[in-house]
Amino acid sequence: MISEKMMAFVKNSSVIRAMFEEGKRLADIYGAENVYDFSLGNPSAPAPIQIKDALIDVLNEEEPGKIHGYMNNSGHEDVRESIALSLNKSFGTSFSFDNIIMTVGAAGGLNVILKSLLNAGDEVITFAPYFGEYRNYVGNYDGTLIAISPNKADFQPKLDELENSITNRTKALIINSPNNPTGVVYSEETITNIAEILDRKQLEYNTSIYLISDEPYRELVYDHAEVPYLTKYYKNTIIGYSFSKSLSLPGERIGYLVIPNEVDDFNNLLSAANVATRILGFVNAPSLIQRAVARCLDVKVDIEVYNRNRELLYNNLLSYGYDCVKPQGAFYLFVKALEEDDRKFAEAAKKHNILIVPGSSFGCPGYVRIAYCVDYSMIERSLPSFKRLADEYREKE
Ligand code: PLP
Repeated sequence: MISEKMMAFVKNSSVIRAMFEEGKRLADIYGAENVYDFSLGNPSAPAPIQIKDALIDVLNEEEPGKIHGYMNNSGHEDVRESIALSLNKSFGTSFSFDNIIMTVGAAGGLNVILKSLLNAGDEVITFAPYFGEYRNYVGNYDGTLIAISPNKADFQPKLDELENSITNRTKALIINSPNNPTGVVYSEETITNIAEILDRKQLEYNTSIYLISDEPYRELVYDHAEVPYLTKYYKNTIIGYSFSKSLSLPGERIGYLVIPNEVDDFNNLLSAANVATRILGFVNAPSLIQRAVARCLDVKVDIEVYNRNRELLYNNLLSYGYDCVKPQGAFYLFVKALEEDDRKFAEAAKKHNILIVPGSSFGCPGYVRIAYCVDYSMIERSLPSFKRLADEYREKE
């Protein structure tokens, strides 16, 4: 008999599993090329060739013990030092290896930091729409996720609601920019305002409120959008980075946390993150890929692959009458559903062999997420179906 807590998690995850099964069923009936699966955030841009070369070079050049052995739970010191220096060069920070903890992707990093910070009943705030797993990750440590309602005008966060939602139990605010599912990048003004609110509330309650910046999409930006580096704006900032999307390595499970010297309770937090990495059962982030990414810190995927997809899909959907904020980053469009019930709308799309995720899964009903990290040719093939779907709704009016 599984635990009650897991029972609830299993029930909630059935939407995505059902979508996967449905994709297979439709592909069997209509042929895989006639099914348009926009449901997953699995990068379609190939991993840069430098990664393959780095893996081969590591295996040829480095000591087997250093490649395959256990290490400090926080990761290889020389890898962490290379990352710190690369961040210092890019953002004018002054990190050393001590500030970097290698993690099992952004997901592993978020779990490590939440395990380190949360007491049962602590509150973690985030802005809707948000990556649905945040609720599970916070729940893992008996915390409560508080979602700020979405600002549907432009999906920049609602700051007045943030201010009113902070209590003496607020331990952290998770932000994600560029954002999954909207693709919106938070402006510098937004970041400055968030920092001011958190500073004010820390003083008011005499607490520490950590700003956790979940950054798997930092490198995926278009039109020269700037993504501010948050440690420069707010003292209690922790960064969770991932190579899953920037180097198209999601299956390799590699990322890191940045815990700057100036965060409250720095020494304890660093030790806690180190121990959390161990006792969550990760022990350490995978070693070979740590060593390889350290050689590729200046490399990223060809962003033009996603930019072409973005332009093709966005421009055509708008011409068919869909409504959507043009994303400046990541590889998702968050489109207004053509009826109030986003789940029903996703069902209607399925009848045209289009698989998309209801916004309810991101705490924002009334919208759907379209992941355009797919083949350009699939988007081209799907366009007539998107048009027919829109026409169908127009005829109903
Ligand atoms: N955070 C966000 C916002 C994501 O979209 C994802 C994955 O899609 C993750 C975290 C987890 O990424 P990773 O593969 O690095 O664990």
